[in-house]
Amino acid sequence: MLEVHEIEKTYEFKPLLRGVTFTLEPGETLCLLGASGSGKSTLLRIIAGLEPAESGRVLWNGADLEQVPAYKRNFGLMFQDYALFPHHSVAENVAFGLRMHGVGREEIGARVKEALRQVNMASFADRRVTDLSGGEQQRVALARALAPRPRLLMLDEPLGALDRSLREQLLEELRHLLHTTEIPAIYVTHDQEEAFALADRVALLHHGELVQIGSPLAVYQCPASPWAARFLGQTNLLDGQVVEARPLVVNTALGGFTAHWAGKPADGPKIGQKVTLLIPKREDRSTGANVRGRVTDVLFRGDGFHAEVVTATELRLSFWLARPVEAGEEVEISLQANGILAWPQSEDYE
Ligand code: ADP
Ligand code: MG
Repeated sequence: MLEVHEIEKTYEFKPLLRGVTFTLEPGETLCLLGASGSGKSTLLRIIAGLEPAESGRVLWNGADLEQVPAYKRNFGLMFQDYALFPHHSVAENVAFGLRMHGVGREEIGARVKEALRQVNMASFADRRVTDLSGGEQQRVALARALAPRPRLLMLDEPLGALDRSLREQLLEELRHLLHTTEIPAIYVTHDQEEAFALADRVALLHHGELVQIGSPLAVYQCPASPWAARFLGQTNLLDGQVVEARPLVVNTALGGFTAHWAGKPADGPKIGQKVTLLIPKREDRSTGANVRGRVTDVLFRGDGFHAEVVTATELRLSFWLARPVEAGEEVEISLQANGILAWPQSEDYE
């Protein structure tokens, strides 16, 4: 379906997108996840045809879209601040794209109804958009994107301006909508939870480079780099040195650990090599290696305890524990032996 091939873009001589390549399968929701400024919106605008790339190609079913203007691509777009026309009704706003495409009156009526039903706003057709809440306005914006029956939906941080409970509710509705309509979608966000809730596949964008693409589980369980691990909330990273290559054993300030090589096979492991190690957050009391430290802070989270721990070597780590602990307490935490990952130590992962 959609193929994005080797997209390059610079802005004021700084590289903004570097060789971005991926494909989107029929019915798939791909979440493009990256920090603010990583180039997500620029990539969407290039795919939409709103901005040219310096090089690279965007194809649909094998056909190059370079000469196809944005309004003829039939891609639906929705942004965080997608301004609705304030003096018009909900129905008129949703009809906007259809009028632009010269769709007939009766057909417009039917499509508007269908789109409003899809976003659970059927009874709001005659309201003025200024009388709606923020969440309702975003539903109208979504209906407007859906009404022309786009062959691809692109959403750029659509829930970013909403408060938490509304965001969760809309996320659930969106998830349902994307799964039932099977419209292929690219959903841009900097929020890992949002991405994991929606995505069939997650694509991680870091400084304009696609560093990893895969199912949420695959990406979480085997991040491609220390940066990816940290970005996905796995923050227990420490330096080490390889003392045995097969099986991999790494020596650290906390002692020796058996680890899995998560770097490229060509990059190691070699005896003596400096590596970055990831220690899982979840305690697994059945097996494996141990870490000792003093609890500095505990958060009760209903299904467990989130504990900040400082080791004798002043390393700060955090853990999910099933058992209660208290600040100030000395603890010994058991780790899942096969959950420890190692990468070559070359990358800046801040
Ligand atoms: P993201 O959506 O991931 O936050 P963007 O694609 O919006 O990232 O932009 C990445 C960076 O590119 C921004 O930090 C911005 O400084 C720069 N940039 C790109 N295009 C423009 C532009 N037309 N005007 C100003 N800054 C731009
Ligand atoms: Mg953006």
